[in-house]
Amino acid sequence: MKEILKTILLISFLVMIYLPSFCWGFFGHAKINNYACFLLPPEMMILYKPNINFITEHSADPDKRRNLVKEEGPRHYIDIDRYGKYPYTEVPRKWKDAVAKFTEDTLIMHGIVPWHIQVMLGRLTVAFKEKNFSKIMKNSAEIAHYIADSHVPLHTSSNHNGQLTNQKGIHGFWESRVPELLANKEWDFIIGKAEYIKEPLQYCWDRVLESAKATDTVLNFEKELTNQFSADNKYSFELRNGKTIRQYSSAFTIAFDKKLNGMVEKRMRLSIKSVASFWYTAWVNAGQPNLQSLVSQKFSEADTKEFEELNSNWNNTNKMIGREE
Ligand SMILES: [Zn+2]
Repeated sequence: MKEILKTILLISFLVMIYLPSFCWGFFGHAKINNYACFLLPPEMMILYKPNINFITEHSADPDKRRNLVKEEGPRHYIDIDRYGKYPYTEVPRKWKDAVAKFTEDTLIMHGIVPWHIQVMLGRLTVAFKEKNFSKIMKNSAEIAHYIADSHVPLHTSSNHNGQLTNQKGIHGFWESRVPELLANKEWDFIIGKAEYIKEPLQYCWDRVLESAKATDTVLNFEKELTNQFSADNKYSFELRNGKTIRQYSSAFTIAFDKKLNGMVEKRMRLSIKSVASFWYTAWVNAGQPNLQSLVSQKFSEADTKEFEELNSNWNNTNKMIGREE
């Protein structure tokens, strides 16, 4: 009997390791994109509300693309600690200056999230100028993903999954397990309105630095709690999609969230506000085009095919190119 139990536990452990992972988890990204739509002014809401399912369902497309395109991975993070110490003044905030100082290869190696958001903002602004329905929707769903990722502390650290400090799994713990357990039941998502961002690059750096500053707290608190919990109480086994998986127990998750004093909720709320504000900023910078004529538009066959291909690739190859999270 004991042997059978042991085997089950081992299989469960393996299942946990090989479950696909997403930054903020599917749950978190979907929620952030969904809630962000409600912060928009009525002139934008007329387009985003009828397409809220698309914006929500495609929130993790950039993660899915990590299986296909090797350039995709570094767009989701920046291992800022590779460059020195907080507040990392040695890293030029502008891309050109940073390339001149460190070379493009080095920047790509350590991740480029604050700069990639600027690229996406440019694309979304052009999409609004062209009043291109498909590009507005796709770029909105995707810029949101990178913005949300930059709000996650462990997306700004080379110890991104606690792999250097024997805390493997902490990445998904912070950004998936905690929100999945608590967001719907306990968190408040009344957030106000989208605001125009005058300096988008500086805005992104501010968020990245906040994330970086919080990294040690996230790692240290998890370690302190681990010392207070027995392994039996730290983890639990749950049935998910017909598979038994090992995950952080509810008690451990709640204790971690309490110790962090609402950090995950605050970062999620700020992600929502940032996403809506970037969408709004792109629209304003494009000259506030009237979106009414786009409301009845649908995606082309080519778009639909592209989405299907991305999904089928994701379902068939559960392997990211580059670093795993
Ligand atoms: Zn991501």
